[in-house]
Amino acid sequence: MTKAVKVGCHVSISGSISNAVDNAVGRGCTAFQLFTRNPRGWAAKKLDEETITDYKTRLEKSNIDSSAVCAHMPYLPNLASPKEDGFAKSVRTLRDEVERCGRLGIPYVVTHLGSHLGTGESAGIDRLVEGLSAGAAIDNNVMILLENTAGQKNSIGSELEQLATLLGRLEPSERFGVCFDTCHAFAAGYDLRTRDKVRAVFEEFDRHIGVGRLKVIHLNDAKGGIGSNLDRHYHIGLGEIGEEGLGETARFAKEHDIMVILETPVDDARDDMGNIRRVRELVREEYMQ
Ligand code: ZN
Ligand code: MN
Ligand code: MN
Repeated sequence: MTKAVKVGCHVSISGSISNAVDNAVGRGCTAFQLFTRNPRGWAAKKLDEETITDYKTRLEKSNIDSSAVCAHMPYLPNLASPKEDGFAKSVRTLRDEVERCGRLGIPYVVTHLGSHLGTGESAGIDRLVEGLSAGAAIDNNVMILLENTAGQKNSIGSELEQLATLLGRLEPSERFGVCFDTCHAFAAGYDLRTRDKVRAVFEEFDRHIGVGRLKVIHLNDAKGGIGSNLDRHYHIGLGEIGEEGLGETARFAKEHDIMVILETPVDDARDDMGNIRRVRELVREEYMQ
């Protein structure tokens, strides 16, 4: 018997970061993602020891493995920015996040690769190498996960080849991995609608990057069509990707012990618990056939 899939969603830290654990448990998560701070501003409240202890104690008491937690970078940083001021602030934020995760015992921080703002891919990648390396210079074991993007104008990281190029320039390699977002990949042109197509995409991933470097899958259905470059997430199975492909992706994650994080909306159609339950059903259904 293989182990169960580790699945959960992005949870709120409203009130205190330790509330994230309760929010995850209450939604039936066996993995979760959080922001370690307000994601909408540059400034972050300092983490005090009491908060850290409270968070760690609650996590230990839960049935969630401490290795099945990831943090997501705040929204404002742009690590590919050609502007000195914006770039410096972005690097400072990344270093701060890596440090905060280390203190909280969170093994992964997911980051977007940003926008080169028209200066071109190669200039953007040079910036990213500088910025991400500065993040990994923080002395702990936190791994920085590069998230693929939907391929919006000037954005970096919508193609697996591009992620591979970037990873090839980042040292030490054990401090860098990948977070694969299904909605972003689909919007960038990767077909994930059938089982065969899903397996083909992950074979391609393995060829360029290596599946061992894939640590988190953001399992989101897509509101936009294939290749639309639209970053609009939707409920599992109710969007343009559908249940066959997302179910197969979740099974792939289970086989490789990769945590699955949902970033799906909460509305009348479904809530977090409903989407998490659907993922578990899809994984199970297939094995019962
Ligand atoms: Zn993201
Ligand atoms: Mn994502
Ligand atoms: Mn997105």
